[in-house]
Amino acid sequence: MPGKKQTEKAVPSQDKILEIGFEHAIFFDPAQLDFRQDVRDMCTADKCHMYDRCWVCPPACGDVSKSVEKAKKFKKAVMMQTTRQLEDSFDIETMMEAAESHKKRFSQAVDLMRGYDPDCLPMGAGGCNLCRKCTYPDEPCRFPDKAFTSMEAYGLFVAAECKKAGLEYNYGPNTLTYSSCILFND
Ligand code: SF4
Repeated sequence: MPGKKQTEKAVPSQDKILEIGFEHAIFFDPAQLDFRQDVRDMCTADKCHMYDRCWVCPPACGDVSKSVEKAKKFKKAVMMQTTRQLEDSFDIETMMEAAESHKKRFSQAVDLMRGYDPDCLPMGAGGCNLCRKCTYPDEPCRFPDKAFTSMEAYGLFVAAECKKAGLEYNYGPNTLTYSSCILFND
């Protein structure tokens, strides 16, 4: 069909997303996403030491108006979460495992959704650690299809977006949750 860029496959179900290993997943309307300059400004404060050091982080990933431009092309979205119970607030091992697992799971989810809509828009969690040293700003990104800008860098306040989508952000004392989403079209 002219203009139809998606494959003829059915949209992956919530169960299919959960089969990847995520503890939680939900489909939601991306029109409710609220891209905020004040959230983006937290990146500029550089608490994570990634500002102006990586292709997927600000300022290279574009400003908030670009986030809005990109997102408004999409009619559907799915959010997915990795949650871990920590032994205590010093349980660094579980924190690192959670971050690593979430990145691997999200990459699989993006592959799955790209099988349905090759032009889908992934919004990840945290910076990119695919390369030992990022090529930014001297050379192009080595893996542009695998490096994802985070929800926060797009200007999204993740706790609020989880609630609006119908998921928790905090699953109780000493839990840690990573959240990411993918915007797509039928
Ligand atoms: S894939 Fe490599 S070059 Fe690209 S953003 Fe990530 S670390 Fe940088």
